[in-house]
Amino acid sequence: MDGAAFCIACGSPPPLTSERLCENCLRARTVFSQVSERIQQHRCAKCGMHEVEKRWVRIEDEELGELRLRENLGVTEGATAVTVDMAYQPIDERAARLHVNVQGELEGYKFEDQHEVLLQTSNAVCPSCTRKAGAYFEATMQLRSAGRRLSEEELKDLRGTLDELLDELESDPMFFVTKEGPVTGGWDLQLGSKALARTWARKLVRRFGGTTKETSTLVGMREGSEVTRLTLSYRKPAYGLGDVIRLKREYWLVSAWQKDGPKIRRLDRNERTGVTWRDMEKATVVSISDDQFIVDILNRDSSGAEVMDPNDYRVVTVALPYDYDSSLSNLRIAFIDDSWLALPGHRGEG
Ligand SMILES: [Zn+2]
Ligand SMILES: [Zn+2]
Repeated sequence: MDGAAFCIACGSPPPLTSERLCENCLRARTVFSQVSERIQQHRCAKCGMHEVEKRWVRIEDEELGELRLRENLGVTEGATAVTVDMAYQPIDERAARLHVNVQGELEGYKFEDQHEVLLQTSNAVCPSCTRKAGAYFEATMQLRSAGRRLSEEELKDLRGTLDELLDELESDPMFFVTKEGPVTGGWDLQLGSKALARTWARKLVRRFGGTTKETSTLVGMREGSEVTRLTLSYRKPAYGLGDVIRLKREYWLVSAWQKDGPKIRRLDRNERTGVTWRDMEKATVVSISDDQFIVDILNRDSSGAEVMDPNDYRVVTVALPYDYDSSLSNLRIAFIDDSWLALPGHRGEG
């Protein structure tokens, strides 16, 4: 048998692996895959977030199970075509069983292992909940209206944009509300992050117009640098997009927000202009967009249309707006100075 290969463990003839083992000895010496029988993990008892790779995140149970398995499963070196299947079986609030099947190849031989893993969850408190509990905050947001009290409805709309924002933004442990509540004329919130307050303020201005004012206060020193708190005051204008206002004895429609104030357009002819927030202090709102109606045209001629009065169902005649498009079958009307007026800028929606 000189020169002929044989298994270094048992002396069997070929076929042999690269390490000169027969199949039986290869299998006997190989642990193809391994994972501990128990995996311990932490969940924040207050907010339910899980610690994953040193960050705290919101994650579905089953996805988390797969992640824990990936973190803990070892497959022997040189394995190829490895597939891992996992079935997640919840046991109770704090435990789940992972049924794992691992398949793959080594030295051209197929291997398959089964594992059962108990995933156990213990309580912890995440850093943001720790800070919340300590009433930590970096910024105060003040929601106000220019020259009057914010209505319940307005407050709900304004506050709702913070929830929208928190859904859109990548989760950050400092994006939380420490405290909030009504104050004279508005609503105050304490936020865990200055960046969150600033991002929200920009969103409010884009959506509702208005202005913001920032002030910083020094609250102490930490590691040689100043620690400041931000107060951001948002002032919502007393009018919204689509409202009709009177300014300098003319009627105008609020059509867009710009940095320095709204863009407005005349109701009776094609004229648009930008005005400042200060100019607008002299304006009065004569019809808010929620009080306007979209009504069908019953009859029309070149200058006027008959529509039904939405309050008493009588047929009334309104002048067509200067930009009326003859393909439109309806008009947007507002009740101004005791009569209905058709508004320009209507494109037939609604
Ligand atoms: Zn052998
Ligand atoms: Zn938490």
